[in-house]
Amino acid sequence: MRLSQYLVPTLREVPAEAEIISHQLLLRAGFIRKAASGVYTYLPLAQRVLARIKAIVQEEMDRAGGQEILLPIIQPAELWLESGRWNVYGPELFRLKDRHGRDFCLGPTHEEIITDLVKGDLRSYKQLPLLLYQIQNKYRDERRPRFGLMRGREFIMKDLYSFDRDEAGLDVSYRKMYDAYTRIFERCGLEFRPVEADSGPIGGSVSHEFMVLADSGEGTVVYCPDAGCRYAANIEKAVGKPIFSGTDEEPSPREEVITPGMKTVEQVTAFLGVGADRLVKTLLYETPDGVVAALVRGDREVNEIKLQNVTGVERLELADAEIIRRVTQAPVGFTGPVGLDVETMVVDEEVANMVNCITGANRADAHYRNVNPGRDFRPDIVADIRVVDEGQVCARCGASLKSRRGIEVGQVFKLGTKYSKSLNLTYLDEQGGEQLVVMGCYGIGVSRTMAAAVEQNYDTDGIIWPASIAPFKVVVVPVNTKDQVQTELAEKVYRDLWAAGIDTMLDDRTERPGVKFKDADLVGYPVRVTVGKKAADGEVEVLRRRTREMHVVPVANLAEAVREVLAEG
Ligand code: ATP
Ligand code: MG
Repeated sequence: MRLSQYLVPTLREVPAEAEIISHQLLLRAGFIRKAASGVYTYLPLAQRVLARIKAIVQEEMDRAGGQEILLPIIQPAELWLESGRWNVYGPELFRLKDRHGRDFCLGPTHEEIITDLVKGDLRSYKQLPLLLYQIQNKYRDERRPRFGLMRGREFIMKDLYSFDRDEAGLDVSYRKMYDAYTRIFERCGLEFRPVEADSGPIGGSVSHEFMVLADSGEGTVVYCPDAGCRYAANIEKAVGKPIFSGTDEEPSPREEVITPGMKTVEQVTAFLGVGADRLVKTLLYETPDGVVAALVRGDREVNEIKLQNVTGVERLELADAEIIRRVTQAPVGFTGPVGLDVETMVVDEEVANMVNCITGANRADAHYRNVNPGRDFRPDIVADIRVVDEGQVCARCGASLKSRRGIEVGQVFKLGTKYSKSLNLTYLDEQGGEQLVVMGCYGIGVSRTMAAAVEQNYDTDGIIWPASIAPFKVVVVPVNTKDQVQTELAEKVYRDLWAAGIDTMLDDRTERPGVKFKDADLVGYPVRVTVGKKAADGEVEVLRRRTREMHVVPVANLAEAVREVLAEG
């Protein structure tokens, strides 16, 4: 390709709306343009990066036994009604009507339609396992589309669905996908971690997310730094070793203490001269099933996903001041479990084992001292409902946990029989008995992976594409376009590199060399071949973008020299 003819509209200024580096650089370097909030056009360079990522994904999916198909984007509402998701998916689902008034949606994911597809053709156990996948656009009317390609409303996803006879079969399919994902993100040149993830209130299911480590990530990975342990989980799922405070004491009689205007943990602990680990926070949540109280230690936070999973409620939201007053007869800041009348009281396992703790007294300006679970209040549920983050103790090995921000680029998920049950997908086993198919689903955000790669590979001058997914591996820059020797050698080098199978861009513009070098850095070609004064001797410069290492190479050895640099990633 010749840059003079190629659509690479680079920008001088960083668009104000672009908060994170990948969004800024992909706009500036001429990869993407916004069409609407969360909706982007991929320009030629981006299309090439996506093609590389897709090719890696396809190779690994095919190697794992996947078969590529293409499902429709427009899906009839009936299937979503059957699965029960039409009414629970909420405003994220793009809904539309056809000219006859029939309801459809734009697929945010494809479990319904693929389950229905397989149902039409599956008879016998002999046809299983079946691994079907596609790469195509997904539509989600995200509440906050942002960060460019990271959280779009239209985005590209690879989704594979596995169909197995039983749980053991699912285990095999899941493992295959887990391994394939590991290879995919390695081949894309990314630093990532597979982490245990929450699988929602369906229960019993297993899920992992693949997180690319980057400070701009919206997720948090909690991990154990111990090399032998390697525990890692999404913060929504992370568990830690419970620490029980005060258990060396005998329970004392409960007493009320006056705490005027002291509503926060800091105020109360400072006033009473105790650590936050002796205090219990009681938070009230409004749910469709009534008010739920959640109790955690003063120095912990409630993990709302764990809370939702143990209570099984469909939704929960922190109660407002009015509800708190109605339930506790007290203002915000003095809620406690003693005498509290709620639908469900969920007590964190650390709290359940505390002795002589401090809680709100459900009275303005008052707390209780020496509250003892079991004696002074009865939990309905005792469970792990706290946020486990950096500094807490690894449940497996006792080391101090660490955390890092991460971008979720993929998720693998054991679905079990959730969809085969609701959509009635069965097969006949060896005995002729009807069995439910056991399913899994496995997604990769292809467009998000492109953005995540930029988040991990850039410097002040621009993007530094990992060689495996670069739009072009090499840019050839003749320094002086008025010098015939240089321009002719540049043309030759360009043709030779293509002939050697190396995707190459020729910067044939009549710009000053400084402008071309700046653009080459911004776009992020892994290798720049500069054709300058040494052209007369048949020599060119090979520059590695990532390290700025430079070699002078005779043209005869160029392809080999370029390959060596590319092999470094
Ligand atoms: P998130 O928690 O980030 O909203 P999700 O859990 O809803 O993602 P999945 O349904 O698991 O996402 O989708 C599979 C993959 O698709 C994700 O791992 C992510 O890489 C990608 N993805 C999901 N939502 C978006 C989006 N709005 N824009 C770009 N990529 C997305
Ligand atoms: Mg997910």
